[in-house]
Amino acid sequence: MFENLQERLGAILNGLTGRGALSEADVSAALREVRRALIEADVALDVVRSFTDRVREKAVGATVLKSVKPGQMVVKIVHDELIEMLGSEGETISLNAPAPVVIMMVGLQGSGKTTTTAKIAKRLTERQGKKVLMASLDTRRPAAQEQLKQLGEQTGVSTLPIIADQSPTEIARRSVQAAKLGGYDVVILDTAGRTHIDEPLMVEMAGIHQVSAPHEVLLVADSLTGQDAVNLARNFDERVGITGIVLTRMDGDGRGGAALSMRAVTGKPIKLIGVGEKMDALDEFHPRRVADRILG
Ligand code: GDP
Repeated sequence: MFENLQERLGAILNGLTGRGALSEADVSAALREVRRALIEADVALDVVRSFTDRVREKAVGATVLKSVKPGQMVVKIVHDELIEMLGSEGETISLNAPAPVVIMMVGLQGSGKTTTTAKIAKRLTERQGKKVLMASLDTRRPAAQEQLKQLGEQTGVSTLPIIADQSPTEIARRSVQAAKLGGYDVVILDTAGRTHIDEPLMVEMAGIHQVSAPHEVLLVADSLTGQDAVNLARNFDERVGITGIVLTRMDGDGRGGAALSMRAVTGKPIKLIGVGEKMDALDEFHPRRVADRILG
């Protein structure tokens, strides 16, 4: 699919043989296509703008090597810039803190928070030999705590016993206490989501953060989130302070533009991607692959 943009740019630029450097007009024509590709990939408009500005700066006046066509050269500049903006390879969840290390999962309802909580717990247990406790702090959706308990049974990971009528902050406090007493290495707090960001949600998240002092705050977001990705990431980062992002549903048809949008506004790394509903469907984030996908 990557050839797609290359072909489009080739059609615009490859007639320019014999010229030594890319002119402002050549680059502008090419960037119109780049902009279109990014918008098709659902990258947020502000981010598309800042990205194309960065590429313009690098491309105008760049000398076109004899061995490559101008279209290929612009694609390379775009591709390299995209990889740089998407961030480094091999980011992982940090457990570099005194036990029990608290990981707080945040995000909108339906983003895949509970599923991802269990996937991460399973991975830390199986691959790193950690003793993990999971707790659902979602007191709003009646079945939420039960859902996590079932995933715990399925994956063989402990869950905090459910006590009715406790508030999210009470459950957070109890989770950390239980993890300390039980000798757990890691405790993962699965917080409540809403269909959209609102003030009470942010107040609740800040309260949980305060009582549990998480070492990692992971924003779980659906990779199909379009223009809302920027607001979502900015709000959670400003109000709660995230340390990383997990993008779910990367197994779908989406081109993953949300990855670029969220990374650009928060500067926080994408640590993992969800690639299916199964408990093992969690992968490392590879910027190069996502860059190819975004360019289409
Ligand atoms: P929550 O409301 O944020 O806790 O969302 P859930 O964890 O309950 O997930 C909502 C739905 O998305 C469930 O049916 C999950 O199986 C599904 N889901 C979660 N992550 C992924 C993923 O990476 N890929 C796919 N295809 N489905 C996912």
